[in-house]
Formats: sequence, C-alpha cells, structure tokens
Amino acid sequence: MGTEPALCGPFLIHRHDRVFESCCPFCGLVCDDVRVEVEASGVRVERPDCARARSLFAVPATGQSRIGGQPVEAIAALRAAAALLAQARRPLIGGLACDVAGQRAALDLAERVGGVVEHMNGAAQFRNWLAFQDSGWMTTTLSEVRNRADLIVFAGTDASRFPRFFERCIDAGSQFGPLERTVITLGATPAGGRGTAHAIEPVDLAALFADLRIRLAGGTGAPNGIGGVPAATLDALLASMKAARYGVLVWNAAELDFPHADLTVQAMVELVRDLNRETRWAGLPLGGSDGDTSASQVCTWRTGYPLRVGFEPAGPRYEPLLFEASRLLAAGEADTLLWVSVFDPARTPPETACPRIVLGRPDMRLDAMGPQDVFIPVAVPGVHHAGILHRMDGVVSLPLQGPSPSALFSAAQALAAIQREMTHAAA
Ligand code: SF4
Repeated sequence: MGTEPALCGPFLIHRHDRVFESCCPFCGLVCDDVRVEVEASGVRVERPDCARARSLFAVPATGQSRIGGQPVEAIAALRAAAALLAQARRPLIGGLACDVAGQRAALDLAERVGGVVEHMNGAAQFRNWLAFQDSGWMTTTLSEVRNRADLIVFAGTDASRFPRFFERCIDAGSQFGPLERTVITLGATPAGGRGTAHAIEPVDLAALFADLRIRLAGGTGAPNGIGGVPAATLDALLASMKAARYGVLVWNAAELDFPHADLTVQAMVELVRDLNRETRWAGLPLGGSDGDTSASQVCTWRTGYPLRVGFEPAGPRYEPLLFEASRLLAAGEADTLLWVSVFDPARTPPETACPRIVLGRPDMRLDAMGPQDVFIPVAVPGVHHAGILHRMDGVVSLPLQGPSPSALFSAAQALAAIQREMTHAAA
C-alpha cells in the first residue's frame, strides 16, 4: 500500500491508500485522533469508539438537487437560488453549519444581497456573548482542563452532548504528572457518572451562583439554601471551590434554554472572577458544534461583530435582539431563507412562510418543501473535502481532511456559484 504524506496546518498527515488520520468535525471537541478507512460502501470510523462520529462520517458522496421537491439538474437549482436571492429585500443567511471557507463565502453573499447572518445555534451563542460583552470573562482551554484542573464543577450540563469530553479532558492524564480531580455536578445526574450531583433546576442556577458570591464576600447567604440545595451544601461547595488549586466551572449555554439565561451565564462569570481573588478559577463554555465557534470567529474578523449582523449600505449593522433568526422569520421581516447545514442531516431549516434555499448534506431529508424551495446537496468538510474548523474553546483552528472526495460542491463553492449565477442573470 503506497503512502502520500500531506502537510496540513500544524499536522503531518500520513495517508495510506485507504486509511486517514484526521480531525472529526461532528461536535465542538473536533477530536484530532480520528482514524477512518475509506471502503467501497463509504467512510468507516476505525477509532475512536464514538457513536456520533460513526454515524455522521457515513454520508453518501452523491446527492440530488431539488426544486419544490422535484429532482432537477444542479445548475437549475443554482439559478433558482440566485433568482430568489436577487429579488429578496431582506434575506436571512442562516444555519451556517459549515467550515471556515463556507462561512467566508456566506458572508460574501450576505454582503452582496444585503442579508442578515445568524448561526443555527445562535440562541445559545448569544446567551454567552451577551454576558461576555457586558463584563468580559475568564475562560480556559481544553488543554488546561486536562493538564491542570483539580476541581471541575458542571453547571446545568453533564457534557454528554460532547461524547468524548471525559475521555479527552478529564480522564486523560495531565502532562505535568499525577493530578487528582474532583467532579461536582449542579444538576440531576453526575456528569460522566462520577463525583457528586446536587439536583437543581437550571433556571435556579443564577440565584445559586449569586448566593455563593455573597457567601464568598463574607455575607450571609439564603438560610434555607437555593433551589433545593441546602445552605450547608452551599457552604461546603464554596469551601471546595476556595480550596481548589485550579478550578473550572463548565456550562453549556444550549442547555440553559429559558428566558434571560444570559443572566445565568453572567452570574457564573462573576463568580469565577470573584474566586480568582482566592485561587485560580476559569470558566469553560461548552459549544462549538455545527461550526458555531468558527462562524462567530469568521464574522468577527470580517465585521467586528459575532453574528446577528445585517449588511446595509452604511456597512455591517449588529443587532443581537432584532436580528435573531426565529424573530425575523416569525415577523415576516426576512423574505428568503438561505440555510447552510453540512454536518448533521437532522439540522434541517425551520418551517417558514418565505422561500427556502437549503445547502445540506446529501442525506438530509426535507419533509415538506414549498413550491419555491430549493435543495442543493453539498459535500461535507472532513469527509469529502479538506477544510478548517475551530474547536469549542476557540484557541485552535484544526485541519479537516477529505478522505473520500466527492463531485459535489463544497458549501463555499455552491455559495460562490450562486453569486456567479446572480451576476450572469444581471448582465
Ligand atoms: S466526540 Fe465529537 S469530535 Fe470527538 S469523535 Fe465524537 S463526534 Fe467527533
């Protein structure tokens, strides 16, 4: 079997004819230890033993373009998409679940058509961004968690949406020698099945963290505890937090799904800040799946704002509340939806009254397509073509390989082709 070394980013990837070692794009961990084998039937994950990776790497290399549910040639779908965008007054470029190149192309197109850009995980992202913009935050990286954290407190999450979080970040040994860790969960079930869990509803977490701040400052906390967590438990929890050498508070904004949850994030951020007067603490916001970290990074490079940006004659306009995707669609303020979703076939576009253009994985199924709806199958970065994706902590962008090339357009190519069709039609 021949080999072809390929330099990609900081990694030297050794390609054998059929076996590739690369990064996995299918959750925010972007694990860099994945080995896949390309077989006649498709891509098979040799390692790790991750059900999500096994399921999502198995994607067909071909797909069918459709208009109104009817099969059409790819060029017809591109022209129909171009025509819809050309006549739109305020298109919404949503989903944005793709690699960095796709997100750059989406911003190019949004700038041309005067669109608003928003990620499919925008509701969760903005719970974090609103807190971050208000006061800043002290966060850490996955590597720091692995190498230094001796107390990890999970708040409202058990991290199970990131299948290998414990394997990669908690159970893996520190590079700097033996490290004893304690895991505490503020939620129904112990994260990773270990440590202690204190049952509390996510909506009560903000009050709990505010109470801990009062106790930390020498004040008297709630005498009867908070949200079912007794006062004595709160005192013991705070004592553990103060005794940690490197504590990490972990949350997943997607699981804080209630009104004004940005204030819960704010309470966590403020507790972390206060704890740093006693010892070392950091936050770790879980996320990054569906390319959401990349999307906010790319939008920030390009416009100075982390999504929910509208392109207007005077320049990019940031409106974190007005440009929320579901609000724009419900209010009829967006008249065309372009939805990009290349990682997970279950992340389909929302039902809406306006025409939809969908750039999706070839195995995405749209139950009900309106007569003007356009579906364009696109290749998956990390499976069909190379690309770049940011990990959830935002400190590294990782190279994706394309072990199983496809004739399908990448998302970036499809978006550029739509722009070309708009130019041809206008000429
Ligand atoms: S944990 Fe996430 S990134 Fe890692 S292999 Fe599984 S799906 Fe891929």
